[in-house]
Amino acid sequence: MKTKKKTIKKTKTNLKLIITAPHWFCMNQDENLCDQHSLIDSKLLYLSIKKLLKNKVIYIKPNKIHRSLTDANRGKKDDKLGIYHPLLKPFLNKIKKGLNRRPKLLLDIHSYSVNNNLPFYLLYIDLGKQKILCESFASKICYKCNINYNQKMIKTGTLDNEIIRLALEKKSIKLAIIIELSDMNNDYIRNLLIEAIRDVSIEFIRDIL
Ligand SMILES: [Zn+2]
Repeated sequence: MKTKKKTIKKTKTNLKLIITAPHWFCMNQDENLCDQHSLIDSKLLYLSIKKLLKNKVIYIKPNKIHRSLTDANRGKKDDKLGIYHPLLKPFLNKIKKGLNRRPKLLLDIHSYSVNNNLPFYLLYIDLGKQKILCESFASKICYKCNINYNQKMIKTGTLDNEIIRLALEKKSIKLAIIIELSDMNNDYIRNLLIEAIRDVSIEFIRDIL
């Protein structure tokens, strides 16, 4: 008797990288509850990486839901729903689906308006090797941009950073960090940083294989 072969649906290709931009939506050009330049920064980074990684990188941002309504990068706290707000369900679902495709790296892109004299800094959650990997990520970005590494370029995030926290629950994820880029970066610096972040990400993914 012949054994019946089940048709197995081909699962989607494994991912290498997820890029998120939770605070991209701004009411106008002056407010800073949102991250003014995170949309352009994250889009440029995604497009640049997509040329190399093709369908192994995905870009996820929420709909036009302002941070004043609910914060797409926070968990539930008191009466605040953060990323668990019903309006953010599509965003959260895309992240969860993406994380099930075994990515290695998640870059959560933000921007900041405070002048700290740094073009960027990274935030990590102090679990496992995250700190050491984050430090090496930052110093490689500096090396490629020919700028001096400064210890202030890496900061300890908290478990409130829900996107990277969710990512780190997955075994496939080797590094999940927040990248904060200065809103004061000019186009030259922005492009230099984005190319550096792209190259460091590609090297990171390649080296852990
Ligand atoms: Zn932000």
